[in-house]
Amino acid sequence: MTALRLLDSTKVTSRRLFGSFNADCFNANSLMRRSSWNRRRLRVCAIDAAQPFDSESREKESRRKHVALKIGVVGFGNFGQFLTKRFIKDGHEVIATSRTDHSGIARELGASFFRDADDFCEEHPDVVIFCTSILSLEATMQAFPYQRLKRNTLFCDVLSVKQFPKQLFLKLLPDHFDILCLHPMFGPDSGKESWQDLPLVYDKVRIGSEISRAERCASLLRFFELQGCRMVEMSCEEHDRQAASSQFITHTVGRMLGTMELAETTISTKGFDSLMSLVDNTYHDSFDLYYGLFVYNENASAELARLEIAFDQVKSQLFGRLHELIRTQHFGDSSSATSATPDSDSH
Ligand code: NAP
Repeated sequence: MTALRLLDSTKVTSRRLFGSFNADCFNANSLMRRSSWNRRRLRVCAIDAAQPFDSESREKESRRKHVALKIGVVGFGNFGQFLTKRFIKDGHEVIATSRTDHSGIARELGASFFRDADDFCEEHPDVVIFCTSILSLEATMQAFPYQRLKRNTLFCDVLSVKQFPKQLFLKLLPDHFDILCLHPMFGPDSGKESWQDLPLVYDKVRIGSEISRAERCASLLRFFELQGCRMVEMSCEEHDRQAASSQFITHTVGRMLGTMELAETTISTKGFDSLMSLVDNTYHDSFDLYYGLFVYNENASAELARLEIAFDQVKSQLFGRLHELIRTQHFGDSSSATSATPDSDSH
């Protein structure tokens, strides 16, 4: 309900009442009413229903309006294509390059594909996002013709490990390039329908002080925010610590279950359904990706060892009790064992 309260105040102005609403139109109307308003002026004190001129909806609208970026995707595989679809849907322009010729699928998605990395760079994208496999990043970067880009291009990556690309960027990229490390903690399977509440980890490793550079970085982050992602600013080092005990373990268990080739049953429990969806979300990822999580996260091998120890502990708990049961069946309980005859002991 719109509540209007009549006030005697003489300080209320049309701007206060209507914000950016067409001022000329308002002035014409207000002139006609001025004489009566001089006596009793109106002030809007509360608005429950969203109005086109209220500050909340104006702010929301301005957040929605984003700068369309020209985004260069390097590595147009599974994940590069997955990101591209959303970028294009959100009004950004995407150009792509990759080891393999993906020009057909790029055309279908509405992106331009460049087989040649020089041609790609000469298109001068605002942002270059590396979506290559973890294992091939270093070689791809070594061969990448940076000198053909604009001098303040923003470099990003989406690798599932973070310290490694950060260190590589800092080592290989000249100071005039900006660096933003990203990790969307979801993929083509887990983020197929919606990105709502899915975590996007980011670390602004190096962003130049000019306003335009800060704004470009903000625009890219806003893209993920508007898709519904839960934005998590975190150092690359902390990401790798946390990801080893969560993401790497998830992938390991998913792979083990996938390797077992478990099948749906007619009496599947909800727990089993969750396991099957874990397999779905991890087993289709390339082995390169999984291997990269292991090799390029210094914390992964310790977590794998912990998993192994935990598995052995659970197993020895099971077999420990089983052995006790068998012993009891064979030899009776420990109190009667002391009075057992030498004969009964021999089996
Ligand atoms: P991937 O197997 O990790 O990477 C495939 C991409 O790497 C393709 O674009 C492929 O190029 C390129 N590539 C592989 N070997 C190469 C080589 N020797 N030289 C040059 N390029 C090479 O699978 P992905 O799922 O697409 O992942 C891409 C990146 O996204 C990875 O860094 C991954 O960690 C990250 N990521 C993935 C997910 C996910 O759920 N899949 C989620 C978050 C982040 P071609 O296609 O041209 O052969």
